Amino acid sequence: MQPLDALQRYFGHDRFRGPQLAIIERAVRGEHSLVIMPTGMGKSLCYQIPAVMLAERQPGGLTLVLSPLIALMKDQVDSLVRRGIDAAFVNSSLSREQRETRYSEIAAGRYSLLYVTPERFRKPEFLAVLASRRVDLLAVDEAHCISQWGHDFRPDYTRVGEIRRTLGEPTTLALTATATPDVQRDIVAQLDLAPDQMPLFHEGIDRPNLSLAVQPVWGDDEKLAAIEQVRENYPGSGIVYFTLIRTLLEFSERLRQRGVAHHIYHGELPRDERRRVQERFMSRADALVLATNAFGMGIDKDAIRFVVHADVPGSLESYYQEIGRAGRDGLPSECRLLYDERDLATQMEFLQWSNPDAEFYHRVFDFLRHDLEQFNAFGLEWLRERLHAKAKHDRRLETSLSMLERYGAIEGDLTVPHVDTVYELPEDLADSTRLAEKLRRDQLKLYALVEYVRADDRRAHLRSYFGLSESESGA
Ligand code: ADP
Ligand code: MG
Repeated sequence: MQPLDALQRYFGHDRFRGPQLAIIERAVRGEHSLVIMPTGMGKSLCYQIPAVMLAERQPGGLTLVLSPLIALMKDQVDSLVRRGIDAAFVNSSLSREQRETRYSEIAAGRYSLLYVTPERFRKPEFLAVLASRRVDLLAVDEAHCISQWGHDFRPDYTRVGEIRRTLGEPTTLALTATATPDVQRDIVAQLDLAPDQMPLFHEGIDRPNLSLAVQPVWGDDEKLAAIEQVRENYPGSGIVYFTLIRTLLEFSERLRQRGVAHHIYHGELPRDERRRVQERFMSRADALVLATNAFGMGIDKDAIRFVVHADVPGSLESYYQEIGRAGRDGLPSECRLLYDERDLATQMEFLQWSNPDAEFYHRVFDFLRHDLEQFNAFGLEWLRERLHAKAKHDRRLETSLSMLERYGAIEGDLTVPHVDTVYELPEDLADSTRLAEKLRRDQLKLYALVEYVRADDRRAHLRSYFGLSESESGA
């Protein structure tokens, strides 16, 4: 079977997009690649097709996909299984029984494509099961999570080099939607590869159909007027992004009073409600949604005519991700950043409040260790009060809990929140030099965004920020 046969037979598409074919051919030949493609362009096929081809050529092998996105795994695997591909996932959403069944199936040689979270490698039972299989291809999805200075660091991703060695150094694909040159270097180095062993394939960042506009505004009235104006001038569906839920709700109320129909989407809505909004947005031709950055994962809609940023975003990485959802159908689309200089101060403050220092981590950790029962009984606000962390925008507690969980220092369900087990405070989170450096890097990202706003040639600025030459694309 050739790549194109697999594309047609299993996925029903007639041709490859951008560098997909080159990457697939390399993977089948046993060559590594670093892949940067905007969300929704089709990174998954770059390892799914090799998985199918390798399973046919050398039965018994496994393509292992590392991904932090538990929420997407089930849907992805279900759709692969419907297409006749022998895929499965293992993550914390499985019951103990389901997990054990799956482990014995894997050990018995079933599945050619397996999705797991990197945290899985902490479990000796899983390592034992994997040891009985030959891994032909390792795909590290969301590979930017490897970098501690990236926008979504996952400590378990730093063990990916070790994981790769445990697996016998299989052919490796690292895939992400955005990575600055620093992050690209980090990814390759963490995988224990040299840059020439893992060339970069870049889909390119120039989306000629996207108009990249910045509109200076002063105050919320001007923002509201700008949103309404975009809504009128660009018929079709669109997204307006906000940094804070509170601001989003204020704008929603004002738009409602003015008779502008819209949906809202943010992380504090119940899951069912979020799903309902997402479905409506997908199915309607002229849906407007006011959203925080929680909106977007899994949004697969081609005809999005505009993306407005009502607030200054925190980095070009997230800005580029979010505007990347516009105009996937290739038709002209408006990306408009509403720039109020005073928002910068809010963002600066936001960065402070989302970067707890070592002392704060210590205090949170001590409470969890000594007063766990009270925390589980009384919840987040109780602890926030005791930490004197009730200032506006103060996200230090949320950040601390989520980092402690990512480091495996606590176990439980943070959505409740309920913490079952408390281990040790990780060194990284007690290291004030490192934490200060993280804050400084975040500030530099914001600064790069200001430079983008002021740049004469915004496309050139984006290209250089993401380390692309004028000619871009291809290794
Ligand atoms: P990414 O991981 O890059 O965000 P996905 O792999 O989830 O993107 O793919 C997004 C969508 O693009 C999927 O619906 C997929 O079927 C579609 N797609 C991928 N490659 C092609 C192709 N060559 N032709 C048509 N559709 C494609
Ligand atoms: Mg993906």
